[in-house]
Amino acid sequence: MEQIRSAEILCVGTELLLGDIVNTNAALMAERLAAFGIPVYRQTVVGDNPARLRTALEEAYSRADTVFLSGGLGPTCDDLTKETVAEYFGLPLYLDEESLERIKKYFSDIGRRMPDNNIKQAMIPEGAMIFRNDWGTAPAICIEKDRKTAILLPGPPVEIEQIWFNRVEPYLHLRSGSVIRSKNVHILNMGESAVEEVLRDMMLAGGDLTVAPYAKDGEVRVRVSARAADENTADALCDKAIEKIRETEVGSFIYGIDVGSAENALLIKLRAAGETLAVAESCTGGLLAKRITDIAGCSDVFAGGCVTYSNEAKMRLLGVKHDTLDKHTAVSAETAAEMARGVRLALGTSMGLATTGYAGPGGGTPEDPVGTVYVAVSTAEGERVKRLSMSPLRSRAYIRYSAATQALGLGLGLK
Ligand code: ATP
Repeated sequence: MEQIRSAEILCVGTELLLGDIVNTNAALMAERLAAFGIPVYRQTVVGDNPARLRTALEEAYSRADTVFLSGGLGPTCDDLTKETVAEYFGLPLYLDEESLERIKKYFSDIGRRMPDNNIKQAMIPEGAMIFRNDWGTAPAICIEKDRKTAILLPGPPVEIEQIWFNRVEPYLHLRSGSVIRSKNVHILNMGESAVEEVLRDMMLAGGDLTVAPYAKDGEVRVRVSARAADENTADALCDKAIEKIRETEVGSFIYGIDVGSAENALLIKLRAAGETLAVAESCTGGLLAKRITDIAGCSDVFAGGCVTYSNEAKMRLLGVKHDTLDKHTAVSAETAAEMARGVRLALGTSMGLATTGYAGPGGGTPEDPVGTVYVAVSTAEGERVKRLSMSPLRSRAYIRYSAATQALGLGLGLK
């Protein structure tokens, strides 16, 4: 089977054009195709209109050999993706008994009678491959003809996701004749362009290895992907590239490989060392604790936290000294350190983290304007504080999120 050289994504649905729903299917397909090293030339959205879909299809095939379509495989009369694509390829539709039986069973399993118009979903273009849909009614369909490929996928995100990972990816592996493995390198405190500057040679090297940095939520991730004949070889290629990245100046900003997030990386690190964690939050108002407790199974490491917004709360719950608040104010390195130490001692954990700052839009002082945040870590060895100075133009949400990330970074031992 020939390799897929280029692809386009074509999503069908008037509600996408109206902005009623966000095009998460395109994001899923684009992200996964990138992981497979298949270049995506364009993403298009068209409404439930066969003429415009046909035009979009013709345009897509003028640039790419494979088109991934989502939506419009439903039973209603405005679901016309399959009919339009079949007509484009000149393929008549036939009733696939196996698909019909499966759809009937889908309905009987949920205690309902199959409406007659669902029969339409079992109509398959002649010669097409069926990707069985065990998560909904419409089967996904793969057409290969005239050196072109069309992959038709149902619109509901739960269905497309399952079909993608269970049916489409095994097919893509077959088509590529090789496997692609990817690993994410998580970086904090170094900007995307600085990372790119250091890794430019690796990024431009081409071949079977792809190194691509991208910024997300105030952090940078570098995706390292390798293509090889088998998984072990591809993994080894990725590992070798990651070792090379570690040897550059990016190395000291790496907090984990494939760890998902800074909070998860910290939990993994503390769990491995048999340590425990507590947090004291002012400007983040519980966000730090929320992000940690979003991770199932965190309770073996995370003891709890205090949201201490007023000076009174900082003194009563964390033992921050009146004198400290008086002399240095609540937004200061001294207060952050006492908060981190206070919560560590109050909850008897081995590590305490704290945040205090001006998230804006109002507040701040000439010395510590909006965007100034102090984050602190406390352990038996003592306290370490970091002053963050974010742009006052940043949103309150951004400042709070970054403050929480930076506190986690301190816990991870980053500068
Ligand atoms: P159904 O059998 O449910 O009719 P379908 O294949 O015809 O599925 P659509 O009717 O186009 O798909 O979409 C079904 C639902 O899936 C939409 O109401 C929408 O909520 C969601 N959906 C469709 N396309 C997308 C997309 N590109 N991104 C995210 N959600 C989508």
